[in-house]
Amino acid sequence: MRYMAVGAHPDDIEMFCAGTLVRAVQAGHDAIMCVACDGSGGHTAIGPVELTRIRGQEAQSAASIIGAEFIPLGYPDMFIFDDRETRLIFADAIRRARPDVIITHWPHDYHADHRIVSQLVFAASFLATLPNIKTDHPAYPLVTPIYYMDTPASKGFVPTEYVDITETYETKQRMLSCHESQVTWLKEHDNVDILEFMETMARSRGTQCGVRYAEGFRFADVWPRTVTRRLLP
Ligand SMILES: [Zn+2]
Repeated sequence: MRYMAVGAHPDDIEMFCAGTLVRAVQAGHDAIMCVACDGSGGHTAIGPVELTRIRGQEAQSAASIIGAEFIPLGYPDMFIFDDRETRLIFADAIRRARPDVIITHWPHDYHADHRIVSQLVFAASFLATLPNIKTDHPAYPLVTPIYYMDTPASKGFVPTEYVDITETYETKQRMLSCHESQVTWLKEHDNVDILEFMETMARSRGTQCGVRYAEGFRFADVWPRTVTRRLLP
């Protein structure tokens, strides 16, 4: 199986679904980490050009920990829109990744970029199946099943499925720790210690399903994406 995670910003995948990706990789599956935006808005002291470079490296380092393929799409933070050109770029990334499962943001998540990325993934994963739409990679026939990942602090999000990440939590933590630039920024901007924040979420989801650490997901239950077997590890 091929698991493709599509996050809006560098560090979103690590925060909300990396424990699940680690489990998939450990079971012999492939993981693809696609990041839509460049992270250029996320700092007070580092300018956008330098920050884009740093955050790209941080995301690449995190992906390397689990041997995931890293696909950065390079949109500036806050300036990604659901338009024709962007749908084609997303569709081509999906054609390149050839996923059996896509994990992305919930359509009602807190951040405008998260919402747009969710919408783009939904549209582009259908678009990717259409041979009449040409991109660099050939059409991919599967209308891929989509899982939505949790929201920050789990606000408003009720999972339909859980993944036990007790055994993979330490790796997830190492992956998030690659995003050093965000540790200071999020403390200043949002008064959040991201490692502690992530642990609280994972413990809370774990409590809900009877394990130490878990990640929660919602299935996008629409035809023809519904399947009869469990797709998450
Ligand atoms: Zn984000």
